[in-house]
Amino acid sequence: MAFEELLRRYEAGGGHLAAANAEGLAVPPALHTALLTCMDSRIDVFALFGMQLGEVHVLRNAGGVVTDDVIRSLTISQRKLQTRDILIVQHSGCGLGTFTDDDFSEELAHEVGMRPSWRTHAFRDPGVSVRRDMAQLRHDPFLVPETRVRGFVLDIESFALEEVFVDEPGAGLSATG
Ligand SMILES: [Zn+2]
Repeated sequence: MAFEELLRRYEAGGGHLAAANAEGLAVPPALHTALLTCMDSRIDVFALFGMQLGEVHVLRNAGGVVTDDVIRSLTISQRKLQTRDILIVQHSGCGLGTFTDDDFSEELAHEVGMRPSWRTHAFRDPGVSVRRDMAQLRHDPFLVPETRVRGFVLDIESFALEEVFVDEPGAGLSATG
């Protein structure tokens, strides 16, 4: 069973290794950065960005999408642990692209007898989802004003990263006004 296997690995030295790896590290991330990405078990974010322990807050959920709980974590990350930059990485071939919010809600209603109060944040195009999440973070009142947000779509086959840019709706107006 999976539980037993994991606990066996902990006993076999995982606990000691983790303790050694954490030794001397400060609580605030050294690179003052938070990274939001998908829980997909194929994505090794530490390898991807050459990250070490103690450098970045890594937030993971289904899709790597901005939810109320992500805002909660980012606000604590910034206000209590001095991070500033936020990196969003969503990916092609994501499970969140395999259903729609309505379908999943309908499915749950059928199987469980009630609909969830939360949304799945399902998306067809990860680029659109990243853009939406970046825009949301840029306008979040709880994040510090100097927050910098960059968003990317990871190709799950080639592991190429493609940056996503938000077109600021007000950007053209200030030029003419
Ligand atoms: Zn995913």
